[in-house]
Amino acid sequence: MRLEGVTKTYNADTAAAVEVLHGIDLILQRREFVALTGPSGSGKSTLLNIVGLLDRPTTGKLFIDNRETSAYGDAELTRLRGHSIGFVFQHHYLLSAFTALENVMMPMLADREFPNEAMRERAHALLSEMGLAKWENNLANNLSGGQQQRVAIARALAMNPPLILADEPTGNLDTKSADTVFDMMRKINADNGASFLIVTHNNDLARRCDRIIEVVDGRIVTPP
Ligand code: ADP
Ligand code: ADP
Repeated sequence: MRLEGVTKTYNADTAAAVEVLHGIDLILQRREFVALTGPSGSGKSTLLNIVGLLDRPTTGKLFIDNRETSAYGDAELTRLRGHSIGFVFQHHYLLSAFTALENVMMPMLADREFPNEAMRERAHALLSEMGLAKWENNLANNLSGGQQQRVAIARALAMNPPLILADEPTGNLDTKSADTVFDMMRKINADNGASFLIVTHNNDLARRCDRIIEVVDGRIVTPP
């Protein structure tokens, strides 16, 4: 993943226009496990949304899988997002009336390329990796916060994306659960080589990443 000269202006062409990212250059190598830190309001979520193809840069370029994305239409972006990027948020956004297993199957269902049994097997394998095989038939509602976040990570991995974006994935968790969730992400990174970009305010966890990128007032202030 690579950003070149990316800016973001919210409410462009109105009196309320404000540029919140200024000329961001960033390369995330394959297998890199990187923390994104900085004060509240500095632009971390905006940056993550752009990398995750949820929002477009106002100017500048975003490369995913070596492809420049600015000319892509919404349908192409949605497809690229589905195959290339996994998301984990501070809130898990699981469907509470479905089981852990069903939640992990959702992205594969949406993709319509998997036979039913293959989906079920893959979801089971991912939940086992997260230490959740015993709970896979529990409703998402009936799991602890740490377990729910591990289900959300398994769901993010369903399509085997090369890039995982996480916005404060441990923000709602106690120290022990946060450590477990972080360790699981590190293990996935070591095992399958997915790159991670993780927004965190937890300095202990940030220090355990390969590298820390700090954003202040819409600019990266750490040396490359
Ligand atoms: P962080 O994630 O570091 O807290 P954000 O990316 O959420 O920072 O916000 C960066 C700046 O952009 C803030 O000043 C915020 O108020 C502003 N901002 C974020 N989203 C929007 C939006 N949809 N419309 C207008 N301004 C926004
Ligand atoms: P280039 O290799 O020309 O700089 P990119 O900016 O796309 O092109 O890639 C930068 C690095 O990140 C390369 O090592 C590339 O293999 C790797 N890469 C590209 N896309 C992804 C992705 N989706 N996830 C993880 N790494 C990626």
